[in-house]
Formats: sequence, C-alpha cells, structure tokens
Amino acid sequence: MAQLVRRYLDRILDEHRQVTDGALACYIPELARVDPHGFALSLSSADGFIYECGDAGVEFTIQSISKPFTYALALDQIGQNAVDAKIGVEPSGEAFNEISVDEATKKPKNPMINAGAIAAVSLIPASTPDERFAMIAEFYSACAGRRLELDRDVYSSEKATGSRNRAIAYMLQSFGVLDDDPDDVLDVYFRQCSFNVTSTDLARMAATLARGGVNPLTGRRVTNAAVVKRTLSVMVTCGMYDAAGDWVSAVGMPAKSGVGGGIVAVLPGQLGIGVYSPLLDAKGNSVRGVRLCRSLSEQLGLHFLTVARDSRATLRAVYEPRDGIRVYETHGDLLFSGAEQVARTVERERADFAAVILDVSRVDDIDDTARELLSGISAALRAEGRAGYLVDPAGIVIRNELEYETVRYATVDDAVAAAERDLRA
Ligand code: GLN
Repeated sequence: MAQLVRRYLDRILDEHRQVTDGALACYIPELARVDPHGFALSLSSADGFIYECGDAGVEFTIQSISKPFTYALALDQIGQNAVDAKIGVEPSGEAFNEISVDEATKKPKNPMINAGAIAAVSLIPASTPDERFAMIAEFYSACAGRRLELDRDVYSSEKATGSRNRAIAYMLQSFGVLDDDPDDVLDVYFRQCSFNVTSTDLARMAATLARGGVNPLTGRRVTNAAVVKRTLSVMVTCGMYDAAGDWVSAVGMPAKSGVGGGIVAVLPGQLGIGVYSPLLDAKGNSVRGVRLCRSLSEQLGLHFLTVARDSRATLRAVYEPRDGIRVYETHGDLLFSGAEQVARTVERERADFAAVILDVSRVDDIDDTARELLSGISAALRAEGRAGYLVDPAGIVIRNELEYETVRYATVDDAVAAAERDLRA
C-alpha cells in the first residue's frame, strides 16, 4: 500500500525535475561546491512512517532550518517570558541577514532572521560555548531520532567569511541583547548551521513538531506542546523571511528554509515534510523546493487553513431507541467548537424529548472546555427538571463524579433503562 503513496509523491517530484532556476549560496564558499542537481522529498506521517523520493540519502547543511529548533530549545529551557524579553515575534519583511533590530524595542524582530537566531543561541543556558553547543546537538538529534554530525568544512568556511553575522552579533551586544561574548555566541551559531541532515532527517524533525513535541520514531518527548505552538506560530509568520506572505497563501504550512537548500514544513497533527534542492532564489529560499511544496500542498490538500469539513461532524448520529428518549452520539476530537455545536443542538431540540442521552463513548480526545460544556448539558437539563444522561464508559468527561453533579453510564442501554425508570417515577 505504501507503494501507492510513494508513486504519487514520485510523480509530484518528477513534475519539477526540469527546474534549474536559482543559484547556489556562494557567500559561504563551501556551499558553492555542492551538486546543484540534488533533489529530494521525504514525508513523515504523524505515526512516524517515512516516504522517501529522489536523493533522500544525500546530506546537506541544515543552515537556517536550525533556527526554529534552537528557538524551541530556548523556550523549553528558560521559558517564554525570558525569551520574549530578548527576541520579538514580528515578521521583519527584511532579508534573513539584515543588520537590524526593531526600532522601538531594540530587539531582533523575530528568531527566524539571523539577528534573532544569534540572540536565541545566547539564551541557551550553559556556562561554556561547548556546553551550549552540546545541548543544541542533543536537542536536534532527539528531534531527528539519530545523532546528527557537523560538516566541518562548511563550518570553517562560514566562520572564516561571516563578517555580516559578526556585524549583527556586535550590534546586538551594543543594544544589550547579547550578554555573552559575541564571538563565542557566533561560533556556536556557525556550528549549529553546519549540521548535516538529509531530507528524511528534516521530515522527522518536522514530524516531532507536528506531534506537539514527541518524536514519532523514538516515542521520546523532546519538548512540550506550548513550546511547539509558539515555534510553529513564528514559523508561519517569519519562517520564509520576506516571502512569508506568499508562502502562507500558496502553501499554508509553518515552514523554515535554509541556504543549504533545505525546507522543513509541518502540518500540525498530521505530517512532517523535508525537501532538498540547493539552487536558491534572491531571498535565500530553494526555488525548486518552494515549487515542490506548492504542488504538494495543492495536490494533497495540505494548506492548514483548508476548511475541510463542517464541525457538525462531531455529531455522529442522533436516534431514538424509545419514544421520547433521544441519543446524541458524538465522536472524534471534541474541542470548544465541537462541544458548542452539541450543546446548541441539544438546547434547540430539547423540547421535543422527555429525556436526552449524550453518548461520548466514541470520542478520541477532549479538552477541558469541551469537558465542562458537555458535563454541563446533562446537569443543566436536570436542573430544569428534565432528564439528561451521559454515556461515558471511560470517564473522559466525568473523571470525578463529585466534581460534576452528573452520573455517568457505561452503555446506552444502561442510560435508556435509567431514563425509563425516571420517566415512570
Ligand atoms: N548560516 C547562514 C547564515 O547565517 C544561514 C542563513 C540561511 O540559511 N538563511 O547566513
């Protein structure tokens, strides 16, 4: 069966084989030596199954795709407030290597441009640059599910020529954003940009974000869901630099590009995507990579703002096992909007029935708001002298019967029996 999907992805890859526009990133001399024809796509499902197409075994340097991961590590280690004190979250509309800070706050505008990324490195709590680098290496490797290694040639090449990043780091120091020695911070930054990855590593790293911080391959929790939410938010607005608006409109996934030719894209809860093609446009994004992502999004319907289905689908079935007793059967993931639909439907129709049974035995996941709303429905019905029953065998809505004054039943039959008893009384 996997063959079917792979064939599909191969076909989308093949549609772009002939694209040769763009240029290698030659401002880092070593990057000008890579094979310009490399082309790869890897896709990880949310449960960690990998599809590979093209040169998925070819290694290239991660470059700026490192930025969201170091930012996530900083959030994880020192918390959002401490990170926000040093780095903003506003799209800059500027080039990735702009020597700038926000005019009002004097902080880097966001962590996806070099200024913000260098600041993020300085926030990783460690007493030496080596220790800081070790934490970063460990975090990226945990996301990828394998030990990532450095490309020492690319590292030395960038370190020897990175005057612009040096200018940025010293500027940050002058504004009080960098507390540590700028050259020490830069050395770690150049190292983090020089990790070798494959498109499959990127897909796995993306899938770890797609899963809210759990690596689907290893099962290890790498960070928490709040860190991932913030990281993905900044990837949406700033991940493709001054092409972010175009990217969100056309592709619609949180993403990050790197001048090594990689792109990582995340469809939350569903997919992680890694793409490689090293010829870049003027903004530093892979020309063919962007086009490939566009086709993937269009052909597979991956845009995250696609309104896929009516949230009414939360109600799986509505039926009457006995006259006057109506069952509302819910399923899937119940969050606020789904629970709101259920509550309003029951409220609108409640005059038609003597007893209402709410069946949540097929609900996969539920959040606190939905839990309160649903337990409130039968309680509210009871409060006004009507009969409301909840079928909740696993106790997903009612975890503690004392907390909510609602009895839960194990099966619809039990609830029907109770309703009949009550109605006779
Ligand atoms: N190491 C590169 C730099 O700092 C990363 C830039 C990028 O990938 N956009 O210039």
